[in-house]
Amino acid sequence: MAKLLDKQRYKCALGAMQSVQAITRALPILHSGPGCAQKLSESIGSSGYFSPNIFPCTSINEKDVVFGGVKKLNSTIENALKVVDADLYVVLTGCIPEIVGDDSGEVVSRFEDSDKPVIYAPTAGFKGNNYKGHEQVVDAIVEQYLKKSEKKQKGLVNIWADVPYQDLFWLGNLRELEKLVSELGLIPNTIFGYNRGIENINKIPEAEFNLLVSPWVGLNNMKKMERKLGIPYLHYKTLPIGATETGKFLREVGKFAGVDEQKVENVIKEHEDYYYYLIERYADLFLENRVINKQFTLVADAQYALGITKFLANDLGLVPAKQFVVDDTPKNRREEITAEFKNLNFGLEAEVSFETDGYKIHEEIKNHDYHGYPLILGGYYEKELTESLKGNFLNISYPVQDKVVLDDSYVGYTGGIRLIEDIYTVAVQRFN
Ligand code: SF4
Repeated sequence: MAKLLDKQRYKCALGAMQSVQAITRALPILHSGPGCAQKLSESIGSSGYFSPNIFPCTSINEKDVVFGGVKKLNSTIENALKVVDADLYVVLTGCIPEIVGDDSGEVVSRFEDSDKPVIYAPTAGFKGNNYKGHEQVVDAIVEQYLKKSEKKQKGLVNIWADVPYQDLFWLGNLRELEKLVSELGLIPNTIFGYNRGIENINKIPEAEFNLLVSPWVGLNNMKKMERKLGIPYLHYKTLPIGATETGKFLREVGKFAGVDEQKVENVIKEHEDYYYYLIERYADLFLENRVINKQFTLVADAQYALGITKFLANDLGLVPAKQFVVDDTPKNRREEITAEFKNLNFGLEAEVSFETDGYKIHEEIKNHDYHGYPLILGGYYEKELTESLKGNFLNISYPVQDKVVLDDSYVGYTGGIRLIEDIYTVAVQRFN
């Protein structure tokens, strides 16, 4: 039976046009109705060399539904190659061409010999959300563009994490993961954001391994690359935030890459010394304020719900109430993610609910006794609710309307400190 989705937290698979846009000089070509790009585009941080307003689109209409839209797709690709200077052209299909059965793959194959690569990803909205669409885009690059390489570059690691634009912190988070990995003496390779793009895509097959930092998004891509390109992968499920998780992360990556243990410990010690120096200076605020209650709730995608729950429990000693994962996590991944929520320090365990219905989530939060002011980190939808409960609120997940994020990050030691600053900035305002 059809479900009503109250308070939508993601977009349809065609929203992955933002993943393409995040690859410097990659151009999405939309084979879709004329309204799709406009509905799916964000005004936040998405202008630039290419923006949703100029993405070539077939704008298919009633006539194309009856007679098929392949001719239009052919001419749109042809003209995009002529007039838009890009390094990679990615055709994304919306609902209508897939319902009427346009063979977009066949049309794209006609451009095999063009000067610039043209690939395509099936991203009809009815196939899933933009987390899935993001995977489809990476899959298309692996399947249709990359080739296995016999040449390997020592220490080269492809890093995959985060869905660009869906998470406003995507750029800063990726850059921080790169920094952490390079401190181990490895060479990080990512494809999204400033100064990456096609050159970095070309390096993917030369990597010694893929590092996936995500509870589930991208796991299918890792498996595909292992099969097709012979690249092994390390799946690290928790976004490392703060000292506890970042230490674990560095040790696990170091072990997988064969980095000298002492070297890893030295990196961790240098960071921890500074991290705990900062925490110590504000210990009074953390321990003696009466406005950050011990119990907290996250309403976020699996990445932040898990990463921040571990951070707040392990580093700040707060106690998890129920946590809500709102990214429509595939059912076959839920058990292992649930197990991670039970793997907290101090014998703590967090109850987790995979729920996309905002109404139900809000009812549960309202009916829970937080024994004081609740601390709620979630989407903008939770702001009013938290105010009605006289709680403390931080907008960390989609939709974000409370914060402008250029390259801020919640990853690593510095990311943990940023998150503490943000949470306690909310708290100290209550003293005024
Ligand atoms: S659900 Fe279909 S029609 Fe709607 S925006 Fe997505 S691709 Fe376009």
